[in-house]
Amino acid sequence: CGIFGVIGPKEPSILEDVYLGLYALQHRGQESAGVAWFDEGGALRLQKGMGLVHAALSQEQLSKERGSCAIGHVRYSTAGESSIINAQPLHATYSKGQVAIAHNGNITNAEMLKRDLESRGAIFQSTTDTEVILHLMAHEQDLPPIDALIKALSKLRGAFSIVALIEGRLVAARDPWGFRPLVIGKRDGIHYVASESCALDIVKATHVRDVNPGEIVIIERGEITSLSIPVKPARRFRCSFEYVYLARPDSDIDGRSVYDVRLKLGQNLAGTCPSPDGEMVLGMPDSGTIGALGYAVASDLPFEMAIVRNRYVGRTFIQPTQRVRQLGVQIKLNPIDKLIRGRNIVVVDDSIVRGTTSQLAVRFLREAGARKIHLRIASPPVRFPCLYGIDTPRSADLAAAMMDTGDLRDFIGADTLCFLKVEDLINSIDLPATELCTACFDGKYLEE
Ligand code: 5GP
Ligand code: SF4
Ligand code: MG
Repeated sequence: CGIFGVIGPKEPSILEDVYLGLYALQHRGQESAGVAWFDEGGALRLQKGMGLVHAALSQEQLSKERGSCAIGHVRYSTAGESSIINAQPLHATYSKGQVAIAHNGNITNAEMLKRDLESRGAIFQSTTDTEVILHLMAHEQDLPPIDALIKALSKLRGAFSIVALIEGRLVAARDPWGFRPLVIGKRDGIHYVASESCALDIVKATHVRDVNPGEIVIIERGEITSLSIPVKPARRFRCSFEYVYLARPDSDIDGRSVYDVRLKLGQNLAGTCPSPDGEMVLGMPDSGTIGALGYAVASDLPFEMAIVRNRYVGRTFIQPTQRVRQLGVQIKLNPIDKLIRGRNIVVVDDSIVRGTTSQLAVRFLREAGARKIHLRIASPPVRFPCLYGIDTPRSADLAAAMMDTGDLRDFIGADTLCFLKVEDLINSIDLPATELCTACFDGKYLEE
């Protein structure tokens, strides 16, 4: 999911900013979108809908609305089904006032907390893990809302980057492990919080800094107050897959440019997985392009854009059924035959999940007359499901969990297949291994 928040002097553009910010975060979720804000009379207002931002929300209406603080969310579901009931922001009115919250991540102990809350009388309205946070807050009757939120967050395990509106303030928090990204930006007297820095660029805000793992930031009247969640993790788990695939390349996460990391992944891949008889390098659009460029430069081979993408088709992975997913890839990608015919080609993609994309790509590259196809993957094999907010399938549907590289190469139909190593992933990101989550690659999950 993608989240966005803004607070500043009342002016009509604040809600327009949320709309623009969510638009820039669209790649993080396409199922639903929503905005919550406090209007001029101090009432909490919401607009939510299913589908892409432009379908779910009315820009015309939001641009006219006045408010001093607002949050927004684009969703792709990892916990709870895809329906309007689960669209965020979620809101609640409880004894201490009104709260709205939007969440990116996956709370691993949500079911346990939910059962406990239900046994104490809580009635859940959605099936999202996010609602647990609101109930935990409401159960802290003796605490002011911000303290109740801190108490609630300290009970959570797993991944949560959140933005919330509480008592006319914008609140942002990142879990103590730092799974999902979260950045702070500023333009004039207006402060922003966003999943990725590309959403700050669109509102012309400067990137102030990242929210730190375990930090709670409260923004009001132009002041930022920093508090912390009282949980001391043994190590961090910043999601390495954000750099591999999820984030936009024009974002910076935790001080690293996603573009630079992808280029480095490609360069390292060329070192680990050379292609001696390769004649040119292609990237699988769009996710493999930057890695392919890095690979081509490092191996001194020409880079060609010989696979063309229909830019009006969304991400294949997001589609629900296997049949639609398969069709999706064919509708989406088309090779330029004359560049490919009779040549030994190196194809770089960012990752293999079910193997569908690679299998279909190899098939159409063969049909286009490729002589040899060397498939190079700029991440290690995805062999374990993500528990922290990326919708990877269960192990049985992960191609690399079910087959070794030789069988997978045959299944896909490539002449050779080679993956990046976990060490190379870590050194491309250039953070210590104890700062990064690589669980979907090596099964090293959070043990707290
Ligand atoms: P596959 O076709 O092997 O299931 O998926 C791999 C392709 O899907 C890659 O090209 C990758 O860019 C893309 N992809 C889209 N969304 C996701 C996602 O959430 N996780 C992963 N691992 N890959 C994804
Ligand atoms: Fe990211 Fe993979 Fe860890 Fe999930 S398991 S948080 S996708 S690195
Ligand atoms: Mg892709």
